[in-house]
Amino acid sequence: MKELHCPACGTPCVRVISGTSLIEKTLNRFSIFGVRCQLCTTRFQARRPGNRMTSQAFDRREYRRLPANFAATLILDQLAAGGFVTDISMGGCALQATTTLARGTFVKFVLYGPSGQADIKVDSAMICSVQPQSVGVKFLEFDPEDKQRMGQLILELLADQQAPPRISSRS
Ligand SMILES: [Zn+2]
Repeated sequence: MKELHCPACGTPCVRVISGTSLIEKTLNRFSIFGVRCQLCTTRFQARRPGNRMTSQAFDRREYRRLPANFAATLILDQLAAGGFVTDISMGGCALQATTTLARGTFVKFVLYGPSGQADIKVDSAMICSVQPQSVGVKFLEFDPEDKQRMGQLILELLADQQAPPRISSRS
């Protein structure tokens, strides 16, 4: 089957997403699926004959979350919570932190750039879940520059994931 590419940025890092609305479900029956670019967030449609979506049925996220380890903070009027990002995608992340902020609160999110890289800001983010030790954050709005840097970061994480496992010494 021909590999799907994002029409906006050309990457093959795209994810077929399961339709939830009636129209989408109907289109799915005709093998037309919604696809979300994992790097630039463009959404498009593609024909995928024979696509049964079985491999993704358990995960309805539009963006695949990648394991990560970055320091980050949530900012409301002042610093609201700081911690480590444990997984991330263009759609959001999990932050290991404790917070008194309620679900649904809009915040700014700052991810501290690893090893001297610039910080990545998300102008508008929302707290979508609160657990005793972690906070689920949904990214809503980026500046174009920050969005591009975040895409680059996700691309690097994807590349790390797809690298073949390293063979340790053969003693
Ligand atoms: Zn794209």
